[in-house]
Amino acid sequence: MYRLVLLDRDGVINRGRPARRPAHPDGYVLAPDAWLPIPRSLEAIAALNASGCSVAVCTNQSPIGRGMMSEGDLTAIHDHMRAALRAVHGHIDGIFFCPHRPDEGCGCRKPKPGLLQAAMRDFGVPAGATCFVGDMLSDMEAAIAAGCEPVLVLTGHDDATELEARALGVRHIYADLAAAAEVFLA
Ligand SMILES: [Mg+2]
Ligand SMILES: [Zn+2]
Repeated sequence: MYRLVLLDRDGVINRGRPARRPAHPDGYVLAPDAWLPIPRSLEAIAALNASGCSVAVCTNQSPIGRGMMSEGDLTAIHDHMRAALRAVHGHIDGIFFCPHRPDEGCGCRKPKPGLLQAAMRDFGVPAGATCFVGDMLSDMEAAIAAGCEPVLVLTGHDDATELEARALGVRHIYADLAAAAEVFLA
């Protein structure tokens, strides 16, 4: 079992912008009422919490850099997420986000490993005891670059993402976060 489970947010915990559609403002989660949990994802986080591992979120949030949303808006969305988790006796131990636009060339926007490295450093857990669960190829690339186990969930995705992930060497592929957590906790 992993000591630290890192989760992408959109497409893993809640519904998000379809990965293969070009950037589309309507698809971003810009307000708490647009944050819609994927079935069983919150219960899966609660089960991970109960097992004693740490659970943190690593999420690209370029709408901040694009001027579509403030950091306060993001905090409001995350307060909403934390409240939804509390209702099922779950919690998130940390949230790491990249506010930058792709053209800013930062070191934290996935597929760069900066967010994942910051999380592992903060929790004091080595990459060998950490996994990162994501729904996009860029998540898998970030996990591989950070040296932790890449885990793909197919929530809302087509077969191409799965094939490309397999080509990258991703061995852990599940239908959704709940299915992944079941295997982690087995
Ligand atoms: Mg995602
Ligand atoms: Zn960044």
